[in-house]
Amino acid sequence: MQTHNLGYPRIGSRRELKKAAELYWAGKSPLSALLETGQQLRRQHWALQQEAGISLIPCNDFSFYDQVLDTLLMSGAIPQRYHALTALNDTDLYFAMARGYQQNGHDITAMEMTKWFDTNYHYIVPEFTANQTFQLRSTKAADEFKEATALGFKAKPVLTGPVTFLLSGKEKEQGFHRLDLLPRLLPVYFELLAQLHAAGATYIQFDEPCLSLDLDEAARTAITHAYQQIATQFPQLQIILASYFECYGRNLATVLQLPIHTLHLDLVRCPSQLDDILQTDFAASHKHLSLGVVDGRNIWKNDFAQSLAFINKAKAALGADRIWIAPSCSLLHAPCDLSLEKDDTALPPSIKQWLSFAKQKIEEVATLQQLATSAHPEQDARYRDNQLALRSRDTSPLIHDQAVKARQRAITDKDCRRNSAFETRKPRQQQALQLPLYPTTTIGSFPQTAEVRQWRAQLKKGELDQQQYDALIEKETVAAIRWQEEIGIDVLVHGEFERNDMVEYFGEKLNGFAFTQHGWVQSYGSRCVKPPIIFGDVSRSEPMTIAWSRFAQSLTNKPVKGMLTGPVTILQWSFVRNDQPRSVTCEQIALAIRDEATDLEKAGIGIIQIDEPAIREGLPLRQENRAAYLEWAVRCFAIAASGVQDQTQIHTHMCYSEFNDIIRHIADMDADVITIECSRSQMELLDAFADFRYPNEIGPGVYDIHSPRVPSKEEMVALMKKASAVIPAAQLWVNPDCGLKTRHWDETKKALSAMVAAAKELR
Ligand code: GLN
Ligand code: ZN
Repeated sequence: MQTHNLGYPRIGSRRELKKAAELYWAGKSPLSALLETGQQLRRQHWALQQEAGISLIPCNDFSFYDQVLDTLLMSGAIPQRYHALTALNDTDLYFAMARGYQQNGHDITAMEMTKWFDTNYHYIVPEFTANQTFQLRSTKAADEFKEATALGFKAKPVLTGPVTFLLSGKEKEQGFHRLDLLPRLLPVYFELLAQLHAAGATYIQFDEPCLSLDLDEAARTAITHAYQQIATQFPQLQIILASYFECYGRNLATVLQLPIHTLHLDLVRCPSQLDDILQTDFAASHKHLSLGVVDGRNIWKNDFAQSLAFINKAKAALGADRIWIAPSCSLLHAPCDLSLEKDDTALPPSIKQWLSFAKQKIEEVATLQQLATSAHPEQDARYRDNQLALRSRDTSPLIHDQAVKARQRAITDKDCRRNSAFETRKPRQQQALQLPLYPTTTIGSFPQTAEVRQWRAQLKKGELDQQQYDALIEKETVAAIRWQEEIGIDVLVHGEFERNDMVEYFGEKLNGFAFTQHGWVQSYGSRCVKPPIIFGDVSRSEPMTIAWSRFAQSLTNKPVKGMLTGPVTILQWSFVRNDQPRSVTCEQIALAIRDEATDLEKAGIGIIQIDEPAIREGLPLRQENRAAYLEWAVRCFAIAASGVQDQTQIHTHMCYSEFNDIIRHIADMDADVITIECSRSQMELLDAFADFRYPNEIGPGVYDIHSPRVPSKEEMVALMKKASAVIPAAQLWVNPDCGLKTRHWDETKKALSAMVAAAKELR
């Protein structure tokens, strides 16, 4: 019985890679320094995996930006617009594709980025043309294998599989399907495999997570074709095929027929899969199974009893020799090292004992192998400690709050519905608010200047006390209110200057959340996020936003929107407890937000926005699971939004543009007003709302806040005219695409003044 790992986080436990990359991009350090950091991190990560006792250690899981972009460079599929950058070395070309290039008279946009399956990691989307050619351009995979081997590690190159690579891209012109390119792409893989083989590689891990999607026949045929060809050309190589994040499902039959050495199973996301496979004639083959028992996506300690049950079952059917033990997926999605968390007040030892980050997960994999091959694992101290820690979770008063559980269980359908239907609410709200046609508003945040961020850092360090900090935030809020009044915005916001992050801010105030100091996870490129940990029943001890909203409202006669983050978004952007269904945790959060909304109403706030930018990204990968998710997600939003009176106007906000497949559920959320991202798609996405005859009010974004560019009044008028051609004007609001947190004041002021002028012209 052996152990292997699918991939290790590359950012570094102190975010060394982020820092080195950003210094290089800023021109403050040479390329050699960045390359050196990469080498150090690889060596360090290989060493810690070897020391833990992992038999086969991944290489080429490292990346300076993204593994899909690495594959793109490997295959030479450089999009046309970068061909002008002939003077650049390949590292700079690589970063130009990732980040765009505005130097030396060039102005070339970056490649698009999108979420990697259902994770919060964003990859670079390959672009393909009909006459796309490929040639082996980067030998990174072979170089890193040689590097690992030279250092004495038993390494296994990890490659993004050809089918997942093609499917993750986009056709940039009509008349072909990207899978048609497979025969042209495969020779590049062959050339690379030949190099790897020559360098002494025996095992190759192909990541094909596309197998966790609903594939059509053509994609399944592509998988069969690719791996048959690889096996024919390289009978000496042992191919490990890895998919994760879902069951193989209907792709299982295809996968079982492949001439591969090892099949990896994500037993965390799909625990039933082992039985499914053992029911086939898999045992009669000579293939191996990789049991992904340690959760690569979450931060909870492994349950050794449960994992050993899987391992023993597989061992009984196949024999120990045919079993690998592994994490469920690459550890890219986990924070690096729990032992760096030394602040007992931020993360109490009582909670820490339930957690495990990447380094600890590696140790769990190795320990499981030792326990599985010992005669009496239950007598092993490591096993007993593990079970003791987990059992303490079952009953811990830190986690279990009977009052919260009882309230969640007592939620009725009536709690998920406003008192009256929208037709009844609308006139009541209009009477209370007296808004003009085409009312103007913004999405919530105003620029978080370096100063504002510095105040918060000073507060943390104790250089400012709470009073001094609050006084500064007050000053900023007053200025924002005055300025919005001056330019004539109809529905104001307080600006969110007091918030670091829209989830962290609420997490810090809610019970049941814990925070780490170093729990960073790569989001894209050098960007990392530090998700809160929801460890226990969630409740609100005291109001979270009332003071700031009340203060802002006291400054003006115009309505100031209360600003809350929705339950699904809070859930989605946190590490979530695994001892109860996500839907239950989400309902608990929803109740806390509901209490906050009703308190805002009592404090005289007439409009409350509940942001749900993450509702869509929670969609399960498989169609068959989507309806159930959407049902509870919509219900949670409704719980949060339905405690208020008819005349209180509920807004929601979402910042993406694909609504076609979920529009019915968006309508079921029954927000009085929804603001959405729209300007980049030139209002096209409004078609979904128009076709559906969306009954409530809509604010299609007219100002692309992702760019420093200031849109003109005429542009915004034109966009709104497009909108009013498909949606009655009485239903429309005028607003930017999203919050203005990342923008500067000068461009924000110009753009919003033009936006108000546009609304006036439309009226
Ligand atoms: N209210 C938040 C803001 O304006 C919304 C952010 C978001 O949609 N991601 O910053
Ligand atoms: Zn947004």
